[in-house]
Amino acid sequence: MNMMTELKSNALFVDQFGRGKRKLRISVTDRCNFKCVYCMPEHPEWMKKHDLLSFEELYQFCDFMVRRGIEFIRITGGEPLMRQGVVHFVAQLQNLKQLGLKRISMTSNAHYLKQYAQALKYAGLDDLNISLDSLDATQFKQLTQKDLAPVLDGIRAAQAVGLPIKINSVLMSGINDNQILPLARWSVQQKVILRFIEFMPLDGDRKWSTEHVVSEQHILETLATEFAVTTQAHDSTQVTSNPARQYLINNHPIGIISTITNSFCGTCDRVRLTAQGEFYNCLFAPQGLNLKAEIKALASSEPLSEVSLNGALSGYIWNKEQGFHAIEQRLNNQSLAKSSRKISMHMLGG
Ligand code: SAM
Ligand code: SF4
Repeated sequence: MNMMTELKSNALFVDQFGRGKRKLRISVTDRCNFKCVYCMPEHPEWMKKHDLLSFEELYQFCDFMVRRGIEFIRITGGEPLMRQGVVHFVAQLQNLKQLGLKRISMTSNAHYLKQYAQALKYAGLDDLNISLDSLDATQFKQLTQKDLAPVLDGIRAAQAVGLPIKINSVLMSGINDNQILPLARWSVQQKVILRFIEFMPLDGDRKWSTEHVVSEQHILETLATEFAVTTQAHDSTQVTSNPARQYLINNHPIGIISTITNSFCGTCDRVRLTAQGEFYNCLFAPQGLNLKAEIKALASSEPLSEVSLNGALSGYIWNKEQGFHAIEQRLNNQSLAKSSRKISMHMLGG
């Protein structure tokens, strides 16, 4: 075993259920030009710009995490392309590939992608997830408050420069569940991978209810009215956990992320950092861990900063709960309102 493997396998952050952490999501801003009904509150209170960690601080944190086993970094938001300097950040993260980082990814609404696609490709972005919840321009505007056309332009631009993309579509019952077949047809025709996502209780205004969830079962039944749907065998050689259950529609791959009705929490290998330095061991964790001071100390190379960050993180990650259903159950048992959860998707980044 060489030194690098030794360091990584010894230092990998693991939770109490034995799930090692390999994926880090960094939210670089909570701001967004869209107002997706399932995400953004009606009246968002943006983080103050001076409260955000700088890209240098975020980079030092990523370096620290990669040396402790993180292999995949996803840059998200809010809308990550709204933060100036994000392309340079992608380029800087390339340095971490020599320490074991395998992929640098981004999740974007693609509104500004046309102008950034080439630069992101040059900066070494490995792949991009793009949100697209409707192909109907009027419905798209109702869902997001923005136009569909720039998003489709952004998708074309990414394809033109050779950036691998996946499309994410959140479905809400009675709102855009009529898009299952149009989006599926479009993905086959475009030869892009589409993943339907069940609506999760992380919307800014806490209006989520189970009635709004379009279940994996319903999605499959709808797809089966037009396509030959088969289950794609799980790739047991894959070392990381994939939150999407994989299917084929007429031999074209499609995924469903069914956190509510059929979750993948049992193998979750993700952790998350908000733009102002709050660390979350789970999307649904009622409480994060404020690491701002520790990250700033790390970035200033203060003595023992690595030791104190390591100590804070390993305990918090160890205590990661079993998953969405376990957390909901605990909140119910303790008669704690779900609204006690202060974080929403536009801060955590999905
Ligand atoms: N703005 C970028 C975008 O929309 O792709 C990145 C941030 S967004 C918060 C990341 C992902 O979270 C998107 O794919 C979005 O569809 C998803 N998302 C947001 N709110 C959600 C919710 N309540 N339930 C399920 N997925 C959600
Ligand atoms: Fe913005 Fe993405 Fe949230 Fe939509 S899902 S409001 S694009 S952060």
